[in-house]
Amino acid sequence: MNDYKNKITSLNLKSKPIFDIEDHLKYTKDWRGQYIGDAIAILKPHDKYEVSKILKFANDNEISIVPQGGNTSLCGGATPLKNSFSIIISTEKMNNIIFIDKESMTITLEPGVILSIIHEQVEKNDLFFPLSLGAKGSCTIGGNLSTNAGGINVLKYGNTRDLCLGLEVVLPNGDIMNLLKMLKKDNTGYDLKNIFIGAEGTLGIITAATMKLFPKPKLSITSFVETVSINNAIKLLNLFEQELKNELEAFELMPKVFWEVASNNTDNLSLPFNKLPEMGVLLELTTTSTNDTLLNNEGTTFLHEKLEHLLSKALDEELIEDAIICKNDLERNKLWEIRENAAENEKKELINSHAKKCLKHDISLPINNIEKFHQETQKMISTKIKNTRTIFFGHLGDGNLHYNIFGNGKGDDGFENQSQNITENLYKIIEKLNGSFSAEHGIGQLKKDNLRFFKDPVAYNLMKNIKYMIDPNNIMNPGKILI
Ligand SMILES: Cc1cc2nc3c(=O)[nH]c(=O)nc-3n(C[C@H](O)[C@H](O)[C@H](O)COP(=O)(O)OP(=O)(O)OC[C@H]3O[C@@H](n4cnc5c(N)ncnc54)[C@H](O)[C@@H]3O)c2cc1C
Repeated sequence: MNDYKNKITSLNLKSKPIFDIEDHLKYTKDWRGQYIGDAIAILKPHDKYEVSKILKFANDNEISIVPQGGNTSLCGGATPLKNSFSIIISTEKMNNIIFIDKESMTITLEPGVILSIIHEQVEKNDLFFPLSLGAKGSCTIGGNLSTNAGGINVLKYGNTRDLCLGLEVVLPNGDIMNLLKMLKKDNTGYDLKNIFIGAEGTLGIITAATMKLFPKPKLSITSFVETVSINNAIKLLNLFEQELKNELEAFELMPKVFWEVASNNTDNLSLPFNKLPEMGVLLELTTTSTNDTLLNNEGTTFLHEKLEHLLSKALDEELIEDAIICKNDLERNKLWEIRENAAENEKKELINSHAKKCLKHDISLPINNIEKFHQETQKMISTKIKNTRTIFFGHLGDGNLHYNIFGNGKGDDGFENQSQNITENLYKIIEKLNGSFSAEHGIGQLKKDNLRFFKDPVAYNLMKNIKYMIDPNNIMNPGKILI
């Protein structure tokens, strides 16, 4: 081991390697506390040349590399395996915004830039970067790209993949591949950039990216709507999509159980309604058109008028029971904060309810199959075990639900024994209804067995061949995605 420490030290990196195991926990434990791995060192390269030097060394010595950004992965993607001979490469020192190009509306940046910093910097230039998620204060653009993160604005702007124009990647042998273009059109053979997006650090390390920016919305209006069922929420979504041009930016499902968890775990939570809604939708309209921001005769903006018109139509058609429109940014931010704290509140709920275990699922379905999935899954669970609780919510506009099942927490409730069986059956229901068992969080360690089972076998083998071709020594994030 000392021999390796000496060799790593002799790489002469600007930041000292962290060898002390006591200092490793921040990097070797995942956000949910489900995975704890081992590393021989944590390295913090300052630029692509240092990354290249480390990868070449690791490849020559067959040492595993675990790339890490903000370490907010929800499936153990950034955590090394137990007893592994790994180096964690943290991108925290590679956190420069290289440039913002206002004319072509692009940003070129290093992988360790934190998402909320991108928002701040871009907005100073009157531009907008739409990727947004609950972990925005700690996740990084390198991690977002490597997981092809989704979040709340996919409905209008797409996933991280759709926002990326160019990438620079260091390959396992240390070669630096420059695909750092800011072109909207570039048909020069295979689209290699897209192989590295969503690869969860198993093929190389992203060292820079060029991302699309958009005009900053001139006005955003948030509304919380109460309805009675998932199907009615979907009809409401259809109504908005038919009647609006491109103003619908987010459409989040927040049912009663979501609000129960939020109120159990938030001090002085202010509810948008007097009672907990059976089914709720948080939606947001935004506009970049000056016309929409002008005031009508009643003194409200045209965007506001459009929203009121659609909500009253939905009331007339009995799609919704009630709705509020936020009056100011304070009200708006409060509601979004509740939504963005969902994962954090669930983590607390698990501890406070003594439920011991929660089965996490991040799934997507064709929108018209979501209610069916919910009914069938609840029926399936009730045949296996009594008294479970399903906490679900999600990006309904994208057909993406977080569907998490809690045991009842009372002694040995049999949940542990049934858990694998429940998840397998749930995924079979997804498969039957043409959905995906992994919508936005990725595969990591958590779902690699499921990937092998559910992915088309020809596609799975092709993925293995690509991995072998790019990384023949399997140094890049082994034990993630592929078995
Ligand atoms: C509270 C909370 C809310 C969340 N909400 C959402 C959500 O709405 N939508 C969503 O999609 N996800 C969500 N996530 C999951 C997570 O935040 C995202 O997956 C995020 O994109 C990970 O970014 P990160 O910088 O933390 O990456 P990490 O967790 O550090 O790494 C994630 C993966 O990317 C790899 N990686 C990191 N950097 C690089 C790099 N430079 N090159 C190559 N590989 C790299 C790692 O090896 C790992 O496999 C949430 C997480 C939390 C904790």
